[in-house]
Amino acid sequence: MMISKAMKKQLEGNSTIRLMFQEGKDMAKKVGAENVFDFSIGNPNVPAPKEVNESIKTIVDEVDSVYLHGYMANEGYPETRQAIAEHLNRRFGTSYGVGNILMIAGAAAGLNIALKALLDEGDEVITFRPYFLEYGNYVRNYGGVLRTVPTDKETFLPDMEELRSAISEKTKAVIINTPNNPTGAIYGEETLRELSSLLSEESRKYGTHIVLISDEPYRELCYDGLTQPWVAAFYPDTIVCYSFSKSLSLPGERIGYCVVPDELCCHEDIYSCMSIANRTLGMVNAPSLMQKVIERCIDTDISENVKAYDRNRKLLYGILKEAGFEAAYPQGAFYIWIKTPEGLTDQEFCNICKRHYVLIVPGSSFEGSGHMRAAYCVSEDTIRRSEQAWKDIASECGLR
Ligand code: PLP
Repeated sequence: MMISKAMKKQLEGNSTIRLMFQEGKDMAKKVGAENVFDFSIGNPNVPAPKEVNESIKTIVDEVDSVYLHGYMANEGYPETRQAIAEHLNRRFGTSYGVGNILMIAGAAAGLNIALKALLDEGDEVITFRPYFLEYGNYVRNYGGVLRTVPTDKETFLPDMEELRSAISEKTKAVIINTPNNPTGAIYGEETLRELSSLLSEESRKYGTHIVLISDEPYRELCYDGLTQPWVAAFYPDTIVCYSFSKSLSLPGERIGYCVVPDELCCHEDIYSCMSIANRTLGMVNAPSLMQKVIERCIDTDISENVKAYDRNRKLLYGILKEAGFEAAYPQGAFYIWIKTPEGLTDQEFCNICKRHYVLIVPGSSFEGSGHMRAAYCVSEDTIRRSEQAWKDIASECGLR
């Protein structure tokens, strides 16, 4: 066998979500796209704001081509980083400069370079289940070990005592994701204050600085008047990984940024290591044209996109409740975390859904058995037309 043992494992456990995405396409070929209700993947259905496409055209016309398409510093164009720093300062009252911002090829790349900069073989990283399962792969990429601790069964907020008992002298970092994929929970000020004081205490106890990695691709997708507090304001040793994949509907373009605040211990070294990691992991720098787009579109109003997801959220949640399912009412992101009906395994429930051409992802894909995730970043029409299928599924599950 030519492939590595580590990749062989990944090959065997290839992402269920990605496989379902393909399954949805195959089903659509067989029974017609209009008869398939694919709630499997977090691929935004709302188009990128018009400013994005317009700025692509003007940038190509206006910016010197050699500069635009050339190599650059691994951390990205200084003008783009300055625009992002100013945007954050306006929104969150911070005082970041170019030296705190590093351009990345999406949150996935940001998490990888942060972990590459921090981890030695055997170091531990903690996250809260259910969680975005790729975290495990990212941590293992650098010889680390991912440990998971539960969240509250109702609120899906971190269980602080479980976190405390999971921390040891091996703990290098804690990853949080708010607004959360898959539960839709938002970590508010109280949670962030508690988390911060716990991490400060435990860091003092072990004579270290446990780094909080805040994975924030859904930062703006908050509903019912809620907003995501600025996580780095609560805990000094924070690295923020942000992405425009969801907020500007650009997942294929691979663009985002990391914030490495001055308050983070050894921030200059960590920033330099992350910049080197951008190069040595092969991304080299974030896509140049997209950096220029972000520079121009950083203040774009996305409230219409958020409203569209909010309408979908209310609509799908209402349909699910009406059909008889139990689900947590999501506060943010674009997922609903549905309870698997009593007496069924996640896989059995998933198979019933598939028979009705409804695709949702089993909780095991998030280390959250007993639940399923439905992504509502689909057209309103798809949600409306799925109503009968949900009712039929509920009947087959004995809920009606
Ligand atoms: N983190 C979470 C929680 C996600 O849900 C995703 C994508 O769905 C990512 C990171 C990766 O996003 P990106 O496209 O920015 O790499």
